[in-house]
Amino acid sequence: HLTTSRTLSNTASPLQIFVRAKKKINDIFADIESYSEESFYFLEELPKNLANKGTVEEIGTYVKKLQAIRYVLSRDHMKCVFFGRTSNGKSSVINAMLREKILPSGIGHTTNCFLQVEGSENGDSYLITEDSDEKQNVKSVAQLAHALCTEKIGCSALMRVVWPKDKCPLLRDDVVFVDSPGIDVSPNLDEWIDKHCVDADVFVLVANAESTLMLTEKNFFHKVSSRLSKPNIFILNNRWDASANEPEYLEEVKKQHLQRSVDFLVNELKVISSKEEAENRVFFVSAKEVLQARLNEQKKVPIHSGIAMTEGFFGRLHEFENFEKQFEECISRSAVRTKFDHHTSRGKLIVSNIRMCMENIRETSLKKSEELQGQKVELSRAIEETERQMLLVTKEAKNRIRNMVEEVEIKVSKALSE
Ligand code: GDP
Repeated sequence: HLTTSRTLSNTASPLQIFVRAKKKINDIFADIESYSEESFYFLEELPKNLANKGTVEEIGTYVKKLQAIRYVLSRDHMKCVFFGRTSNGKSSVINAMLREKILPSGIGHTTNCFLQVEGSENGDSYLITEDSDEKQNVKSVAQLAHALCTEKIGCSALMRVVWPKDKCPLLRDDVVFVDSPGIDVSPNLDEWIDKHCVDADVFVLVANAESTLMLTEKNFFHKVSSRLSKPNIFILNNRWDASANEPEYLEEVKKQHLQRSVDFLVNELKVISSKEEAENRVFFVSAKEVLQARLNEQKKVPIHSGIAMTEGFFGRLHEFENFEKQFEECISRSAVRTKFDHHTSRGKLIVSNIRMCMENIRETSLKKSEELQGQKVELSRAIEETERQMLLVTKEAKNRIRNMVEEVEIKVSKALSE
């Protein structure tokens, strides 16, 4: 009765809030960019006494700014960073969520740098280190594990694993996962936070359900929450399958873990205000089981094949799906707010500045046309006056000519009679 997954074509995913918002804001910015480009070319053609050089240049700067915003927008994604001690199961959780064994996990494959998994546009899989643009080909986990072992980089460095989106709905919907080195491995927390956490939308603390929350784990989140206002934190008590070996203590242990985790989020970090809300951020899961079940499902074999099927298997599977649902809602809303809010206010400012420039030009052009109108009226008045003068002159000339003729006539007739 329980399946492990949503299908790839599922459009009801809460992640669609981000995906749709991203499309919409992209479309709006494309429109604004084309209007501003049109305005720029229009102003360039205008006489300089209407649109001076400074105004044309100002509009040109806005066009460039809009192009830059569109570039950033096209690369905006939802980012989740995973923290926890070595071997708590961070890589396993990421693999389970991605439904594929992408990151190497297990003893001997300790992640000793930050590893970012992101979707590739063209279906290729490759690795990129921080200091080079070279795409190192990786086709399998084994290859990736080998590449990670041979690369000599510091524990604050970032390696990007770019992976085909087709099998991983989360990658397809623009979620980026960052796996961190174990928090117990001499961390430089300030540098980690500055480099990898300030733009994170969600943090997942992968804790070991077999032990209690450690001070090192708590300290990290104290630092994060002093830097970011109210970070979104989920706590996964992983390896919960191990608890099935001691059923008599199960409920008691769960209650204790839950209480401590909730207390940490509400009273210590103060990132969540209510106990009920905090309970929706704490989950008891087995990443190892979920990953195996999902791989089985893809291979179309019974989902529990190769799993020890300890008591509560389906319950843990369900709990993991519950976590994913809450996670997707949270990351999607947070990313829309944090990523697009800023672009929106910049966009609004640019549009209102462009409008102001255009209105100034319209006003100048109106004034000029009124001036011309005035000149035209004066000119026609002058013409009328000249015509009137001309008429007078002509009339007078005619009279004088007539008088002269008459005079001549008189003189002639007088001479004749004489
Ligand atoms: P990381 O160092 O935090 O990334 O931990 P890994 O994901 O590499 O896991 C360390 C070991 O714990 C691996 O051998 C995993 O198979 C195992 N492991 C991970 N999750 C679970 C779990 O939920 N239950 C059990 N029993 N083992 C797990």
